[in-house]
Amino acid sequence: MKSDLVAGFSHEYINYMLGGTYRGSFRPLNDAIMAGRIRGVAAIIGCNNPRSNHDYLHIEVTREMLKQDVLVVQTGCGAIASAKVGYLLGEAGLDEVGPGLREICETVGIPPVLHVGSCVDNARILTVLSQMVEEGGLGDDIDQVPAVGLAPEWMSEKALSIATYCVASGAYVIMGGSNPVEGMVDRVPQSRYVAEEILLKEWENLYGGRLEFIDDPQEMIEKTLAHIDRKRADLGLPAYDATLWGKSGDWRMAELETLPLEARENALYGVPVGDD
Ligand code: SF4
Repeated sequence: MKSDLVAGFSHEYINYMLGGTYRGSFRPLNDAIMAGRIRGVAAIIGCNNPRSNHDYLHIEVTREMLKQDVLVVQTGCGAIASAKVGYLLGEAGLDEVGPGLREICETVGIPPVLHVGSCVDNARILTVLSQMVEEGGLGDDIDQVPAVGLAPEWMSEKALSIATYCVASGAYVIMGGSNPVEGMVDRVPQSRYVAEEILLKEWENLYGGRLEFIDDPQEMIEKTLAHIDRKRADLGLPAYDATLWGKSGDWRMAELETLPLEARENALYGVPVGDD
């Protein structure tokens, strides 16, 4: 059992981590998103569900988000899935992380997945998004931030109610499985209108967020990245390009480790005076 996992990042603590006592601020996070080091943010939350293999959807989606330089925040039972595979372990999960996100995690000293609390703490994620908007550079409201909420293995009504308040706050939310409203279409034909028009279109017109049900993890990943990239473009931010990042820090260290010992010492510590 690994013992050094880091859990419980409140919005106050994320603020502190990014700037310390004197300059606590979301500015470094916003700047990293605006530059493209971090492509966007995915909140991957919610239950496990016996209709899919335990943890499978959580891990499948989280793993790809990290590779794509998307910072992941998690709550509830889904966060335990990440803890089991090591994504909450300080820098230990960073070998599976894209180059830009890795630079940020190593600089700040955070794991690539931030555990934000239990599933009733999802309001903290909205607080973080509000503070990011307040900090400036990522639009005027939550619906403009390059961020997506996902509950890949949800099963509880509580998860659905959380999803709806997130949508009402402007978030695009993807739930796993099929839409329970569509299951009513045979008995209540108007349900089709709710499923296809209200959840996907009318809510977006009213609040900027929408609620979609997707059972294929690949489609969840594609739609999440497409939404993040569309929001980046709408904000006028540069298109995500992973080749721009990861040329500093540990990459230099990896290069140094290939040198013979003396050459490495000289590169690291300089040539002593009188020895050249
Ligand atoms: S609603 Fe229950 S099962 Fe779902 S994330 Fe919360 S605690 Fe876990």
